[in-house]
Amino acid sequence: MNGLLDGKRCLVVGVANKRSIAWAIAQRLDEAGATLALTYQGERTEGDVRKLAETLSRPAAAVLPLDVQDDDEMDAAVTGAADALGGIDVLVHAVAFARAEDLGGRFADTPRDGFELALDVSAFSLAGLARRCEPHMTDGGSIVTLSYLAAERAVPGYNVMGVAKSALESIVRLLAWDLGPQQIRVNALSAGPVRTLAARGIPGFSDMADKIAERTPMRRAITTDEVADTALYLCSPLSTAVTGETLHVDAGYHAMGL
Ligand code: NAD
Repeated sequence: MNGLLDGKRCLVVGVANKRSIAWAIAQRLDEAGATLALTYQGERTEGDVRKLAETLSRPAAAVLPLDVQDDDEMDAAVTGAADALGGIDVLVHAVAFARAEDLGGRFADTPRDGFELALDVSAFSLAGLARRCEPHMTDGGSIVTLSYLAAERAVPGYNVMGVAKSALESIVRLLAWDLGPQQIRVNALSAGPVRTLAARGIPGFSDMADKIAERTPMRRAITTDEVADTALYLCSPLSTAVTGETLHVDAGYHAMGL
């Protein structure tokens, strides 16, 4: 993979700690030759993200605060990253949030504010970031986001986040159309369950992950490294005609009717 992204400038949004899918992707992009800008959400994660950034093989161009619900921070993070990197070729969006009380129980009982919060952070943020990155992606580029099978199927416990992922995958298709003329590709990677901070918020996640692993065609769980490898493909010149796609990295689970 060395050299696949030589000279490419990547903004990675969604690193919280070493288990984050975004961190696995950041490492893979770094290994492939890219220079990175990373963001962190709030002071609580700043130290961890800065420490991780120091372990990259080349210094991160910038480590910037970003709460995707704050338009001023969105403006500042994208401008700051583009200035530090000298433009943007790749945006990785690995952000999702719903309140604990809006996961579990019945989806039917989701209140309006919980619905709006989950959709704003987990889906609209992709459109907001893509729009801001577009003027800096003057040589074309690639935008990759993270989805989950609950976008396509009813997954009890995932509730409002399933609705957010459906919206996210729809946004991917619409952005692919809007940004296509500039040769900016937009794709989603639909990952099987991996044990991260965000996953811990899903009630019964561990049991569900074990059951899913048994029922995949490959009879196993997936790893964040496998997600990162596919993200590298989507960010790289190996996928120049792939856009508007949702690619499953789930050991084949999505293909099953069981
Ligand atoms: P994670 O907790 O490491 O990452 C979630 C990230 O979202 C964190 O960095 C957090 O700071 C960020 N975030 C939440 N609210 C934010 C806000 N308002 N502003 C800015 N950032 C905010 O967990 P993860 O599992 O690596 O999640 C990354 C993505 O992968 C998410 O979109 C998640 O839905 C998706 N995904 C995860 C799994 C899984 O099983 N872990 C499976 C499929 C898809």
